Amino acid sequence: MTTTVTLTGTGVPFPSAERAGPGVLVSHDDVHLQIDAGRSTLMRLTQAGISPHQLSALLLTHLHSDHVSDVADLAHTRWVQDHMHGTGPLPVVAVDGHAPGFVRRVLAANAYDVDIRVQHVQDGPPEVIGHWFALPHTPAEVWRSPCGRVCVEAVRVRHEPVEQAVGYRITTPEGVVVVSGDTRVCEEVAALSAGADILVHEACRSSALAEFVRGTRFETIFSYHADTVALGAMAKRLGVPHLVLTHLIPEPASPGQAAEFEDEVRQGGYEGHVSVGHDLLSVTLEQGVR
Ligand SMILES: [Zn+2]
Ligand SMILES: [Zn+2]
Repeated sequence: MTTTVTLTGTGVPFPSAERAGPGVLVSHDDVHLQIDAGRSTLMRLTQAGISPHQLSALLLTHLHSDHVSDVADLAHTRWVQDHMHGTGPLPVVAVDGHAPGFVRRVLAANAYDVDIRVQHVQDGPPEVIGHWFALPHTPAEVWRSPCGRVCVEAVRVRHEPVEQAVGYRITTPEGVVVVSGDTRVCEEVAALSAGADILVHEACRSSALAEFVRGTRFETIFSYHADTVALGAMAKRLGVPHLVLTHLIPEPASPGQAAEFEDEVRQGGYEGHVSVGHDLLSVTLEQGVR
């Protein structure tokens, strides 16, 4: 058995033909967890061979639109196809705050289509199964697979002014995968990452942006995104063997620019394995192999 981590999107709000909106798929056997659903997540999942009905749960880190714009397509398409698969509503795991209302409004937006399809073929309107949890200030279990072999913990991360932002730690029989969500480098993610095999972390090259944003309101970006050098220092301290960089700011336009993300992580002192993310990058964990 293996655990596979697939980046379904490595982009940011600025549109890119190469990079879907943020998302990570973590799979162990028939447990498939999708963390976030930025633009074109459904397309990338399809490329990865996963249909919406196969998702065990959708985990949301926070409600910045780049992370949730494809929730509508995932939930609605699962509903449209449910008469074929019978897997029922999509389970959604998120903070019990803004998320339940957001998901409700997303589903309601297709009211006309829902009415037509209910008359035509569907048994009833689309729903999700909400696994809403209180914002955890220390890592806490928020979901467990019915088979009991996959456990999800969450912790509040530092993405102010977004208060309801979390990262996730997914434990399978093969190891531990942590997905930071959007955050500056912080002790909360460090605590979540203790003993992790793979840390999927957002990355922001402050050095490349500093001149561009100086004196503009975007200068605050450094207070809620993860400086790559500081991230390298944290990963070194934690001893995490594999660091996967995603949500790349600024988007690398060439292999050379992608390599600069790794260079900065090395400047921070990190000596482990670095993967600079691209869409559909896939990393596999095998039992007993690090
Ligand atoms: Zn964000
Ligand atoms: Zn984001």
